[in-house]
Amino acid sequence: MMADVTKFLTGIETFQQQHFGENSELANTLVDGQKPQALLIGCCDSRVDPALLMDCSLGDLFILRNIANLVPPYLKNDDYHGVSSSLEYAVCYLEVSDIIILGHSKCSGIGALMASANGKEAGEFIGKWVNIAASARDKVLQEMPDESPEKQARACEREAVLVSLKNLMTFPWVKERVSKGQLSLHGWYYNIETGQLKYYNQLTGAFEILVKRYSPKVQENPL
Ligand SMILES: [Zn+2]
Repeated sequence: MMADVTKFLTGIETFQQQHFGENSELANTLVDGQKPQALLIGCCDSRVDPALLMDCSLGDLFILRNIANLVPPYLKNDDYHGVSSSLEYAVCYLEVSDIIILGHSKCSGIGALMASANGKEAGEFIGKWVNIAASARDKVLQEMPDESPEKQARACEREAVLVSLKNLMTFPWVKERVSKGQLSLHGWYYNIETGQLKYYNQLTGAFEILVKRYSPKVQENPL
């Protein structure tokens, strides 16, 4: 039986009324082009919708979502590079000033990565994809071998954000802009149980609670 998509159609109607009615100033300004401030790289998880979480409007965020919010290292070959091409467009063409990696708790992608330590490779594509953060998994298992699988997974979710930050810097045009102070990289972690957001503090090397006055300094090496 076909699922009922009425809910989505009703939502589109509401959206159209809000943005394309008489007071459609916002939509009009965006017709000719976009100038988002940030590229946000988030997980596909339906509970972590970046624009909803940050109360953003149309045009605010250039969003790339994939399993476990991962960035692969810079690699030029004949594969299809969805992440790298989105990154290139955001950085080199839209010239965003910020890139945010948004990790989150209870991430199934990171769960698959942790399970792979026991030889369980997920799916046809997922296992290879999440393996981008294999070094995060190995670090967690080495540093906290006696912790519960839940705590290890939470730690791996945060470590994987750092792997993606590090991989971002392997893209020459990202590295160049960061070193010139034109681009800032941010590692964030959202707790789906509490709604709390933490950010990676380069100075302390820890994830800390995000406060309103948060204003990270641009640094050459984010790690
Ligand atoms: Zn996830």
